[in-house]
Amino acid sequence: MDTRMPLTGLDRAALADILARAGVPERQRRMRAQQIWRWIYNRGVTDFGRMTNIAKPLRATFAQHFTIARPQVVSRQISRDGTRKWLLRFAPDDHGQSHEAEVVYIPEEDRGTLCISSQVGCTLNCTFCHTGTQKMVRNLTAGEIVAQVLTARDDLGDWPDAMAANPDAPASGRFITNVVLMGMGEPLYNFDNVKAACDIISDGEGISLSKRRITLSTAGVVPQIPRAGEQMGVMLAISLHATTDEVRNQLVPLNRKYPIREVLEACRNYPGLSNARRITFEYVMLKGINDSPADARRLVNLLRGIPAKVNLIPFNPWPGSPYECSDWDTIERFAAIVNRAGYASPVRSPRGRDIMAACGQLKSASERLRARQRKAAAQDAPQA
Ligand code: SAH
Repeated sequence: MDTRMPLTGLDRAALADILARAGVPERQRRMRAQQIWRWIYNRGVTDFGRMTNIAKPLRATFAQHFTIARPQVVSRQISRDGTRKWLLRFAPDDHGQSHEAEVVYIPEEDRGTLCISSQVGCTLNCTFCHTGTQKMVRNLTAGEIVAQVLTARDDLGDWPDAMAANPDAPASGRFITNVVLMGMGEPLYNFDNVKAACDIISDGEGISLSKRRITLSTAGVVPQIPRAGEQMGVMLAISLHATTDEVRNQLVPLNRKYPIREVLEACRNYPGLSNARRITFEYVMLKGINDSPADARRLVNLLRGIPAKVNLIPFNPWPGSPYECSDWDTIERFAAIVNRAGYASPVRSPRGRDIMAACGQLKSASERLRARQRKAAAQDAPQA
């Protein structure tokens, strides 16, 4: 078993502290941490050997104690429309188990969005979501969440050296311009790790993506919404999907705990909202379930007073899914009603459906072993 400590995902203070293990004297730790930080997050280095402003023997000592390796890329698929999906396998956890999660890159004309996962599996069991058919396995660590961004940047050539050598580099100088926490899992059920990851992704001396370009999507974990606003400061998206509690209870079982009224109340109080900083309400279009003109009118009434935009998501089918996508005319009629009421209501064009990379299609084969299997796995694992 690899006993080297992973550095990816530590905040600056923790990174400085841990350097003590490699014998770095206290007065040098902050400076060394700063150097390492820039190599990892600004330059994308995965090997201490390339940290040329650190003396060679010290690089070797670091390599003995620490790791900055990426998760393993198990598979990489590219859609006809340019969307990319990676299945990543993370380093084995304390029980010797390796788990997997999916990451998706969606290139558009004027931006590139990376959709990352916060958990392996999910506890929510929304009835229209493929991830919901996978049992919750575990939370991802801050390092594993950040590593999704780093690994995608590797493959896209989204680091300064690769960018400088690329004649087709985008004008913005970045392939990944936005990050959305809309992959597998409920980010607000993994609050601390997601917050730590957002802090690293937005750090001005690293990846340096503004928090206004990071969007966290939640099914509506009401008690965590004000905390997210105060402590994370990222943009918020709410998976609303229905306009009555009766229907939402069916689609998003979490609604039985936190009904629509409470979710919207938390949204009204979300700090820092303005016309330039709106909450996105995601609304999946399910034929005959939530797509009537009456639903559209109710939706508009519910949102009154909240700086909001509505993102209509055509339902993406998956094997065995119990719903159908609304007809195109129905979606357009719905969008028009919302739009006439003064809310932007773009229809999210399905991307990467051919590689099962579209919203709600993500799933990994990871399963949680029973306690008994875990014990056996631990006994089989070579002792360090
Ligand atoms: N748990 C969080 C993060 C997931 S975001 C949340 O619920 O917001 C993924 C988005 O895709 C959510 O809005 C989800 O409701 C939506 N979605 C899930 N399954 C879908 C499907 N089959 N078709 C379209 N959208 C889907």
